[in-house]
Amino acid sequence: MEKSIGLYIHVPFCKSKCYYCDFNSFSNKSELVEAYFEALKKEIIIYGERAEGYEVKTVFIGGGTPSSVDSRYIEDVVRLCRQHFKIAADAEISLESNPGTLSEDKLRAYKYIGINRLSIGLQAWQNRLLKNIGRVHSIEEFVDNYKLAREIGFNNINIDMIFSLPHQTLEDWAETVNNVADLGPEHISCYSLKIEENTVFWEKYEHGEIDEIDDHTDREMYYLAKRQLAGHGYGMYEISNFALEGYECKHNLIYWKAKEYLGLGAGAHSYFNKKRYNNLYNIEDYIKNYMEYEGKYIEGEAIIDEAESMSEYIILGMRLTCGISQSEFKGRYGIEIMDKFGGKFKKLIGKGLVEHKAGRLLLTQTGLDYANQVFMEFIDID
Ligand code: SF4
Repeated sequence: MEKSIGLYIHVPFCKSKCYYCDFNSFSNKSELVEAYFEALKKEIIIYGERAEGYEVKTVFIGGGTPSSVDSRYIEDVVRLCRQHFKIAADAEISLESNPGTLSEDKLRAYKYIGINRLSIGLQAWQNRLLKNIGRVHSIEEFVDNYKLAREIGFNNINIDMIFSLPHQTLEDWAETVNNVADLGPEHISCYSLKIEENTVFWEKYEHGEIDEIDDHTDREMYYLAKRQLAGHGYGMYEISNFALEGYECKHNLIYWKAKEYLGLGAGAHSYFNKKRYNNLYNIEDYIKNYMEYEGKYIEGEAIIDEAESMSEYIILGMRLTCGISQSEFKGRYGIEIMDKFGGKFKKLIGKGLVEHKAGRLLLTQTGLDYANQVFMEFIDID
């Protein structure tokens, strides 16, 4: 049987850097765009050969802001992927975008080349909050872009939103959730803000200019999202992700189900042939590596042995509200999960964090709030 794989393509350019963002993305390197895509094309050709015998089920063009560059670069990338990989006829092909970088021409070009899932970063419905977090767009631009995407025929749209932002009230968050749900996108992601090092927010936090929202309010916001989105017909299928039935993100499910994927572009991570590794993070180094050295340098290479593979499978799979299937575990590893990890699971079930239901092990409602505590149990198992 042909093996399947997901393809992630990283575009590390943004119009400006958001205050909370620690991704491998830059707003001051536009002079490298042309050279970057040349290197990316080389990488596509090289990995197209290595992935012979695989069928690509999903392509995810993320970043950064892929919509910030001229659409001809995206068109070239998709076209080249089709030439060098075997892309499934029904593949999910997603592109991440941000309001303020989209236009009718770009959206039409994306549609024409077969992008069938559009992800739009909104984050908050209030212009004052958007400004406070360093976003370059207004809510009005978001609504215009969203409507335009619908008119052009995108029928699978995700909206990203963030809660626990500095100065965000519960009412602000309720307005964001309800207004987005009223628009009716097929998929909604709700992330809780974490103030990360090397961000503008980290500096502000260190200087006492902003505070983290307290845990109680953070949880209230999460519960509110779960309640309101359920009321609008969205099913929560992962800790932070909600979808109308049948619109769960197939690409992200590859990660959560610990299946194989290739990450192309600066810093992109791969899990391929039982190895995890990533490309060089620095854009200039990445370009040089592919233009001069045929991509021979990679970073963080680790062979995933059976114990690590089980650990990842459980930690990633427990993020899904359906949890992990005992029979799938047995099919994959040839042993019963309860024979190997019965002690740990019994302890977590006893604490009310995990439940055993219809041949599956999954987080309880309380477990969703203490997911890290559950995951810790499965780190470094042997
Ligand atoms: S647009 Fe996205 S990737 Fe770019 S800086 Fe903002 S959050 Fe980071």
